[in-house]
Amino acid sequence: MRIDVVTIFPEYLDALRLSLIGRAREQELLDLQVHDLRDFTHDRHRTVDDTPYGGGPGMVMRPEPWGEALDHVQAAGRTALAGVSGEDATPHLLVPSPSGVPFTQQLARELAAEPWLAFACGRYEGIDERVLDDAAQRWRVTPVSLGDYVLNGGEVAVLAVVEAVARLLPGVIGNAQSLVEESHEDGLLEYPVYTKPASWRGLDVPAVLLSGHHGAIARWRRDERVRRTARRRPDLAAALDDAALDDADRRVLADQQADPGSARFLPEPPAVAD
Ligand code: SAM
Repeated sequence: MRIDVVTIFPEYLDALRLSLIGRAREQELLDLQVHDLRDFTHDRHRTVDDTPYGGGPGMVMRPEPWGEALDHVQAAGRTALAGVSGEDATPHLLVPSPSGVPFTQQLARELAAEPWLAFACGRYEGIDERVLDDAAQRWRVTPVSLGDYVLNGGEVAVLAVVEAVARLLPGVIGNAQSLVEESHEDGLLEYPVYTKPASWRGLDVPAVLLSGHHGAIARWRRDERVRRTARRRPDLAAALDDAALDDADRRVLADQQADPGSARFLPEPPAVAD
């Protein structure tokens, strides 16, 4: 997969040289290129922003450097992908924005199947809307939101999206099985995990995990997934597909919903003010 990121803070993306994503880049499973938006300005101050038309607070990112930067991304990517994706290949442009579509594991899976993604990191009050309109004449453009809160810039969102997508690429995670049982893969959250020592500060690992009984361990883990989902994310529990649940799941779910305080091993959810 190729990923291009345009930003005024290229160093922000240095974290993507570390750990599994860094190794994936070294192994050429992922070709990630970061571009400095200011390289596409032509004034002495390398200006990328200006006051908003219509007035109001803050500054807006000017369209000209963005247009040139995205033209450059297209040309550079086509050269890099020549022979793989065809001469008229285009990236899917993702624009981090608090008003974008929510970024989910499902979207991460869809993006992981694409050959070429590009990200436009906004700052200030955001990017002049015509940049998206212009790109949409040539590319697929999707504004994506990390959540219902406001960040200072798109870079943190890019770190999150790239990490979530890249770990799904074949070969990036050593044991592909570990992707299967994760939270948000099948509507259930993951079960609690433990390692040695078996007893720590008076807290014991659940005995079933030491039993060596694979069937009992699998059942316990499944029960804990159902319980944890019902307790921490009632919205996800309500959306569970009944056909995907067995009788034991339904019993655990009903018990948990009838008595939300009975879940073991889970801290109390934080109090929510009315
Ligand atoms: N004025 C904008 C609004 O109210 O929608 C917020 C601009 S924000 C200060 C600057 C940039 O941060 C945005 O252009 C976007 O790139 C990024 N950003 C902020 N919150 C985000 C979120 N929840 N998800 C993704 N990107 C976000």
